Amino acid sequence: MLQDNAFARLSDFDAMEAELKAVRQYLHAHPELSLEEAETARFVAEKLEAFGYEVTRNVGGHGVVARLTAGTGKKSIGIRADMDALPILEETGLAYASTSPGKMHACGHDGHTTVLLGAAEYLAKTRRFDGTVTLIFQPAEENGRPSGAQKMIADGLFERFPMDAIFGLHNHPGAPEGTLLTRSGPIMASSDTVNITITGKGGHASRPHLTVDPVVVACNLVVSLQTVVSRNIDPTQTAVVTVGTIHAGQAVNVIPEYAKLALSVRCFEPKVRDLLETRITKLARSIAEGFDASIEIDYDRGYPVVVNSEKETAFARTVAEELIGAENVATCPLIPGSEDFSYFLEHKPGSFLRLGNGTTSAILHSSKYDFADGSLTTGAAMWARLAERFLQEEA
Ligand SMILES: [Zn+2]
Ligand SMILES: [Zn+2]
Repeated sequence: MLQDNAFARLSDFDAMEAELKAVRQYLHAHPELSLEEAETARFVAEKLEAFGYEVTRNVGGHGVVARLTAGTGKKSIGIRADMDALPILEETGLAYASTSPGKMHACGHDGHTTVLLGAAEYLAKTRRFDGTVTLIFQPAEENGRPSGAQKMIADGLFERFPMDAIFGLHNHPGAPEGTLLTRSGPIMASSDTVNITITGKGGHASRPHLTVDPVVVACNLVVSLQTVVSRNIDPTQTAVVTVGTIHAGQAVNVIPEYAKLALSVRCFEPKVRDLLETRITKLARSIAEGFDASIEIDYDRGYPVVVNSEKETAFARTVAEELIGAENVATCPLIPGSEDFSYFLEHKPGSFLRLGNGTTSAILHSSKYDFADGSLTTGAAMWARLAERFLQEEA
């Protein structure tokens, strides 16, 4: 084992802090929506080339992959940042607020991109690693169907740029700036959408016996759906079934022909996810059948559960503790939001970390949100040290 000072330390990034802040605030002022990240990708690619990386553009859309090899090691580490912004009108009042009204970095992907660029610059300058660093700048995390991660994988990410493991991070409002959070196993939820159309037989409100009332069917279904989590899911597990929309009818004296519902379904275990689909589908079909209505169910599986592998998560935690002290590394609670990093983890072992965004931070996707610049050096140093340690670990 090499001496500790052979690996990146937090203080090594002090001199870079002003530069990182400038990059982050530039990206913040120039947000691009999912699938439109052309300028951000160009900005990132040009910087990486200037640092000395071999850069591949347009991987799965506007994705950028940068590689750098040092020494003779055969291992490769993948680290991913997302680049896209959201269709939100910014209300932060910041000097570097969005210059594109209606577009905003309200999820902190400007910060994620910046910390990976910071690590990239450091690793290229110091080259104190033995193997290959593969940096993945991903588009369309927020709103791609297929998502940016899926498109990069479909474009041969793992075949063209072999890697032994993949890591990523997201900022975490509520946790102190400069802290890191890890969690082995599931960390973020799957997110599925179910669109249901119930077709009855419309008619006059005064003659219900001649109709099949889809409003009554829909109401029965909404009530019955409440039993899926309370009666079918193991009490030590958790899930959410929310009926987000329900639409039927136009006039008080008419029994309508249709009722439409849309559900948001979330959980933290692939097995629970399957059970939710089975139960929701079965209940919906049987209730409709019981009332002589017909039903159409479009069960759309969105992002899977983000499942961190045990070994890589323990390793990332060790590196985080070395870097910022165990007192600044917490175990992350389960997060009911979803992330398309889950697709990468279906192919490779790895870990998705969370980086404190401050205890007074606005929540993600809020028009008042801003990435905490106080966490930039921690994020950059973490990626740099993680890469160095990962590639040295079994050398
Ligand atoms: Zn987001
Ligand atoms: Zn995000």
